[in-house]
Amino acid sequence: MANRRKVIAGNWKMFKTVSEAEDYAIKFLEEVKDVTDLDVVLCAPFTALHALKNELEESIVHLGAQNMAWAEEGAYTGEISARMLLDVACTYVILGHSERREMFGETDQDIAKKVQQALAVGLTPIFCCGENLKLREEGKAAEWVKNQVASALSGISKDDLLRIIVAYEPIWAIGTGKTASSQDAQEMCANIRATLTELMGSASENVPILYGGSVKAENIGELMQEPDVDGALVGGASLDPLSFAKLIKNA
Ligand code: PGA
Repeated sequence: MANRRKVIAGNWKMFKTVSEAEDYAIKFLEEVKDVTDLDVVLCAPFTALHALKNELEESIVHLGAQNMAWAEEGAYTGEISARMLLDVACTYVILGHSERREMFGETDQDIAKKVQQALAVGLTPIFCCGENLKLREEGKAAEWVKNQVASALSGISKDDLLRIIVAYEPIWAIGTGKTASSQDAQEMCANIRATLTELMGSASENVPILYGGSVKAENIGELMQEPDVDGALVGGASLDPLSFAKLIKNA
């Protein structure tokens, strides 16, 4: 019997100043303080992390970043290391988001190194994968996603793989209002789990796999009914504290 955590993670992307983040945290905590049946994560911009550390301390809400460097430390102007994230109480980090891959040229190799670096310091990577519309229409989505997962995760030990979260985010569904049907989400999450099984055996049953792409309070319930969908990575609908809290309660 699978023993998987349910996880709902908000991805604020490039939104919210420090004061906006603090204001959000106060309102959000009031709404979600009694949530116990799933893990709640807020992935905020780097500049807001320290302030959120203070606001979220001893709460049920976990803190995450949206990216980090693959190097440990050194002459990497403009980069933020895994250890710096730990220092501001981050326990999660989104890695390989399609916006980073598409707009900032991150490769599968970069992402593989980032995943290893995150695991080395004890952060939980939320590893993102997903196909674009062209690949889906050509019937190549499953193969594409399988390759993304295998190339980022194949160098990682079975024990470390147990500390990863995978987020399936079809690019055509991100920020478009077009959610994958719950059947499409299930099919691809099951495909990802099969790929994980090739890498780590039946322990893949314990890895949370999230769906992301236009998830809202209205569709989270249906998505979560699917056996291989263990939660969601939420962009736009995480920006308002009350709406995000409602989504979490509907999960
Ligand atoms: P969205 O974004 O919920 O706004 O579609 C999801 C994501 O990019 O993580």
